Amino acid sequence: MNAQADIRDVVVIGAGIVGSAIARALGGTELTVTLVEGRDDVGDGTSKANTALLHTGFDATPGTLESRLVARGYDLLGEYAERVGVPVERTGALLVAWTDEERDALPKLKDKAERNGYHACEIVTGDEVYRRVPDLGPGALAGLTVPGESIICSWTTNLALATEAVERGVDLRRGAMVTDVVRHDDHTAVVTTTGEVKARWVINAAGLGADHLDGRFGYDRFTVTPRRGELLVFDKLTRPMVPCIVLAVPSSRGKGVLVSPTIYGNVMVGPTSENLTDRTATGTSEEGFAFLLSKGRALMPTLFDEEVTAAYAGLRAAIDRDDYLVDVDRDQRYVLVGGIRSTGLTAGMALAEHLLELLADSDLDLTPRGALPPAPRMPNIGEATTRPYQDAERIAADPEYGRIVCFCERVTAGEIRDAFASTIPPRDLDGLRRRTRVLNGRCQGFYCGAHTQSLLEASL
Ligand SMILES: Cc1cc2nc3c(=O)[nH]c(=O)nc-3n(C[C@H](O)[C@H](O)[C@H](O)COP(=O)(O)OP(=O)(O)OC[C@H]3O[C@@H](n4cnc5c(N)ncnc54)[C@H](O)[C@@H]3O)c2cc1C
Repeated sequence: MNAQADIRDVVVIGAGIVGSAIARALGGTELTVTLVEGRDDVGDGTSKANTALLHTGFDATPGTLESRLVARGYDLLGEYAERVGVPVERTGALLVAWTDEERDALPKLKDKAERNGYHACEIVTGDEVYRRVPDLGPGALAGLTVPGESIICSWTTNLALATEAVERGVDLRRGAMVTDVVRHDDHTAVVTTTGEVKARWVINAAGLGADHLDGRFGYDRFTVTPRRGELLVFDKLTRPMVPCIVLAVPSSRGKGVLVSPTIYGNVMVGPTSENLTDRTATGTSEEGFAFLLSKGRALMPTLFDEEVTAAYAGLRAAIDRDDYLVDVDRDQRYVLVGGIRSTGLTAGMALAEHLLELLADSDLDLTPRGALPPAPRMPNIGEATTRPYQDAERIAADPEYGRIVCFCERVTAGEIRDAFASTIPPRDLDGLRRRTRVLNGRCQGFYCGAHTQSLLEASL
């Protein structure tokens, strides 16, 4: 093998939504690309635990890169979701004012939305607020509609982007934590826990770990603060109470607590916002639970008469500036995509597009490749469209789609078998859950856990 042959054109570090979107975009060229992920699965970091809203960007800070890329990402991901089968529901959102001060803030929020290029917001009366969401607690004075805000499946989004990257020829290495980088004249050696990857260019999309990697390139320009967001998930019986996303009026303390339907037919309340130091602290807390109970009960008291079936937390990669931090270092052939804090699910594909524009005049040949494989078609795990257990024709053709394994979420043996045979098969129960919804229901695996575990073991 000649010395150049084992040097890849690009290595992307981090297979969350952002890194996977970038790898997919680069996979559409003739470049040789490796995507390395420290965990055993793609989308196992912040991208798996968020509020899963496809944002219009109506409330972004006007003029920022984030504002531009969220708006662009909304269109790109909306179109992509349709094409590859990522579940989306165009529920719209209603931002509710509970005090005179909040009501007075609505025109400013509408104006801000317009400065962000979003012109569909309308201010509505308290009566109209209750007409739209009859189960809201007493005291709503007025509202602002955001018809474009939508709910989406974060898990399928990440998986679709990574799957398409791999099908386009990207070499995905899971379980490969990057521990160091060594600069050479014509390449960088990226040292991982499973060996070295040499590449001419390195793209750092490492989320919560991005500042540490950045330091390996000699920088000391930002620190990631893990900002925890905890959420409560309610039983599916509550779904009719929440026909759209119910938002709070943002304040200096953040966006506030929202109540939202989920793509899996539940309702969620959250998130909290708490700066931590531990970048692995994805557990939930008693304080978080108490906070969400008190805030949520005021918003929708009857919801809190129903059962909470799960709680989870995600960590935003917050940095000390109010925008994304994207930078190309041409000397070191190194790109940072950092500070993708609370909108990266929506903006991921736009970040990838933006990066390709920034690299257009680099020594990377970004000419699109002629013959690309067709985009993947992802298994549907959303409630709004037909799932395999509901599809008589499909069951007749393959009875495994009629054999339920997880009764809470109606997941079939056929779907689990398909996940094991997919381009990026799961390596653990959590990965299988994100691909099928198995173990995701109100029993939390009490009934199907052992059976599912045995299916997983047989597949490995
Ligand atoms: C509570 C909460 C609510 C949110 N709600 C929304 C929302 O409604 N809509 C929206 O658009 N966005 C939302 N977000 C934001 C969104 O989830 C993130 O912006 C997005 O997931 C970031 O993706 P990422 O790829 O940058 O990071 P990640 O998903 O964290 O991916 C980074 C990856 O890099 C890997 N990695 C790190 N260090 C290394 C290393 N040294 N070597 C190898 N791999 C490494 C990690 O394992 C990880 O998989 C929310 C976030 C939170 C926490």
